[in-house]
Amino acid sequence: MTKDSLYNLTLESFPYDEAKIMGKWVYKKLNFNPDTWEHAPRVVREKAKEYDLSLLKVLWQGLSKDGTRKFLLGLKDKNSIEAVLIESENDKRLRSTLCISSQVGCAIGCTFCHTATQGLTRHLTTAEIVGQYLTVSSWMRENVDKDYQISNIVFMGQGEPLHNFENVKKACYLLTDPLGIALSKHKVTISTSGLVPKIKQWEELPDVNVAISLHAIRNNLRSELMPINKRYQVDGLLEALKTIPVKNSRRIMYEYLLIKDLNDTQEDIDGLIENLPKKESKINIIPFNEYPESKFKRPSDEHIEWFQRSLQAAGLTCTVRETKGDDILAACGQLKTQYEKLNLPNSN
Ligand code: SF4
Repeated sequence: MTKDSLYNLTLESFPYDEAKIMGKWVYKKLNFNPDTWEHAPRVVREKAKEYDLSLLKVLWQGLSKDGTRKFLLGLKDKNSIEAVLIESENDKRLRSTLCISSQVGCAIGCTFCHTATQGLTRHLTTAEIVGQYLTVSSWMRENVDKDYQISNIVFMGQGEPLHNFENVKKACYLLTDPLGIALSKHKVTISTSGLVPKIKQWEELPDVNVAISLHAIRNNLRSELMPINKRYQVDGLLEALKTIPVKNSRRIMYEYLLIKDLNDTQEDIDGLIENLPKKESKINIIPFNEYPESKFKRPSDEHIEWFQRSLQAAGLTCTVRETKGDDILAACGQLKTQYEKLNLPNSN
């Protein structure tokens, strides 16, 4: 009989004392062999052995010139997904952010996105979502630094996280459970293309950060870039966002992919200034990452700076995201499962 994965269950599924021991060994020490859990009661070790504790298979990993690492991870059904580990320095502290996937492929069909070209194959299970964290952490500890810690998680890999709401929700609870992986809720970010009905269910999630892939403020243009906008238009999206409790001076992050001669005009700047609440918004400009078949272009550095300064001058908080990992197709919108293309040996 196939065992269910332990990582499909939140720790609340177990009595507190058992959850504490399992959480310590599995999620904190990354030890997936209960027979080696020193001093752990036999009954807990036996309970853990009733579940599948295996990780995803690292089929391939690539290191970009800037230190970004892309992982191609094999699932049991021979599908594969990608996760990207990005290191950056913030106030002289090293931050390592894992960008994870929530689906195999994606159904949303954004025209600028490499992942969209493969369509949706299926949702990931909670275990496969959390498994990306566990697998990459373990790999880094075995191969790079035995004390390696991933500090942040962003759901910005393949898939629309809110389309897979229940499994993503459970994964967020596991990622932030003090007995489990214990990441701060402020260090987990869900990025959505704007699935309005699910945004209205946001309060079911732990208090994680929200990022909206806005990319255009004009409806016509947004519908062109993101077909989901035909169904859930900008004004309805902005209304739905007001239902998200944004506490303690946190902000809603608006991701804005800046594309040459498309959404980078004065009219776009005016629209953003008019529609985004200044106190609760942060705009993150992402200069478009060109990929081999892409029809869009990246604006010049001077133009990007002009766009940013114009928004800042109007009182909006606005940053430009440094492009990371583009030499290995690991940057935003560039993820696409490449298992078949790479012609790697079978994983399972
Ligand atoms: S940008 Fe995100 S939501 Fe849009 S198609 Fe790509 S993976 Fe899906």
